[in-house]
Amino acid sequence: MKKPLRVMKFGGTSVGDASCIARVAKIVKGAAAEGPIVAVVSAMSGVTNRLIDAANLSALAEGKQVDVIFASLRLQHETALATLIHDDARRKRVAVCLAKIFDEGERLCRGTAMLRELTPRSLDAISSLGERLSAPMIAGALSELGTPSEFVEATELIVTDSSHGGADPRMDRTRERSEARLRPLLQEGVVPVVTGFIGATQDGVLTTLGRGGSDYSATILGAALGAGEVIIWTDVDGVMTADPRLVPDARTIPEISYREATELAYFGAKVLHPKTLHAVSQAGIPVWIRNSFTPERTGTKITPKGRTNGGGVKALTAIRDVALITIGGPGIVGLTDVVGRTFSTTAEVRASILLITQSSSQNDICFIVAAADAKRTVEALRKEFAQDVAHEKVEHITMDTTIAIVAVVGENMRGTPGVAGRTFNAVGRENVNIIAIAQGSSETNISFVVFEKEIKVALAATHREFGLAGSKAKGS
Ligand code: ADP
Ligand code: ASP
Ligand code: MG
Repeated sequence: MKKPLRVMKFGGTSVGDASCIARVAKIVKGAAAEGPIVAVVSAMSGVTNRLIDAANLSALAEGKQVDVIFASLRLQHETALATLIHDDARRKRVAVCLAKIFDEGERLCRGTAMLRELTPRSLDAISSLGERLSAPMIAGALSELGTPSEFVEATELIVTDSSHGGADPRMDRTRERSEARLRPLLQEGVVPVVTGFIGATQDGVLTTLGRGGSDYSATILGAALGAGEVIIWTDVDGVMTADPRLVPDARTIPEISYREATELAYFGAKVLHPKTLHAVSQAGIPVWIRNSFTPERTGTKITPKGRTNGGGVKALTAIRDVALITIGGPGIVGLTDVVGRTFSTTAEVRASILLITQSSSQNDICFIVAAADAKRTVEALRKEFAQDVAHEKVEHITMDTTIAIVAVVGENMRGTPGVAGRTFNAVGRENVNIIAIAQGSSETNISFVVFEKEIKVALAATHREFGLAGSKAKGS
């Protein structure tokens, strides 16, 4: 009996060089022997960052530096191609395809340089080149192994709104197009290799789904085609109790709910794009996170309900590159509209707020935004409250970029008293100063703010306190 359709997404590090791509091709070949597979691929690791640099440098008319980036990208792809594909005709076909995409990228950069303006639309067109380069190469590598495959541009499949840099899918249209384009290939036993990260508006203008958005591409296609599972292959053994780069004894969580995984993703767990589970939440399709470097391990299964570990706390995350903005002064006690004016101002400058706290004495309103949004938010607030500052009702509007957020996440924290107390005791014992605290009423998440330099200590202390390194033993 054949397995039902599976969508498999391979992230940047999983396709980082020829040997990684060869490993991926082996995984897909093995899976394709068991049932139909749609592969979704990211750009080779680091490529999207360099393309974005090239786009920004183009807007500054730094043509020479742009040429250097393109030369290194050409070399990287040509080297991988030469190692991966030995059949001359096949290698030539892929090389022609890559050359066309590089030419297009260089034209886009020259146009940007001429206008000295980088529009969100051009940035999407340039930053999407990495997936358009990796996908034909990976399709070629699969064919080389004897698994019939075809490169498909996601612009033909995923119909989105026009929010460049963070587009959302129109699922009905996406379903129609994906069925029409992919189903016949699957019926013929061909593995479509689709570019992650990318979509297009109804009129065919290319959009991107946001940084790290290939995870979302995979679940969008999984939902559109009614897949049995979506498998996200990455460079770690699943969703872990903390980022293993920050907490070395972090452990894989065998099963986790959609809600917990989403909360972790929103609070900085890069392993999953925050919108990934939106696409599958209605159909309840399970999503696996697995390590393409150790495919023998099972990884994490993300399901609608998850499985309890009894202890409430499931995992920790941290968000860096954020800024704490404070509006304060004794005079704001009587100002009834401070909160309203503050958040209309942040909305006007499109700064998204990650955390808010206000003490009951109302002396301070603190909130956190991404560091990239901080300067313009403070400038807008200073303008909004200029009169109040002049009349000494508002004493200060300040910004601190030396901080980070730590979030403690777990669905069963609801109804488990003492989680907040244990967290703050554990952190306090290590002499880490807690600058602000927030807990959503859903109680899926307790977040606190510490100085960035103390983040590892705070994470280690909390990880230890909740026995997360041993959570497997507790049967999580
Ligand atoms: P990909 O290129 O496969 O999309 P990413 O770099 O986007 O991979 O995501 C994988 C990385 O996410 C890991 O290398 C790890 O450092 C980081 N990460 C952060 N938090 C977690 C977590 N809780 N569990 C697993 N990985 C995490
Ligand atoms: N290549 C894109 C990025 O780096 C999308 C992804 O990897 O998911 O953001
Ligand atoms: Mg990613």
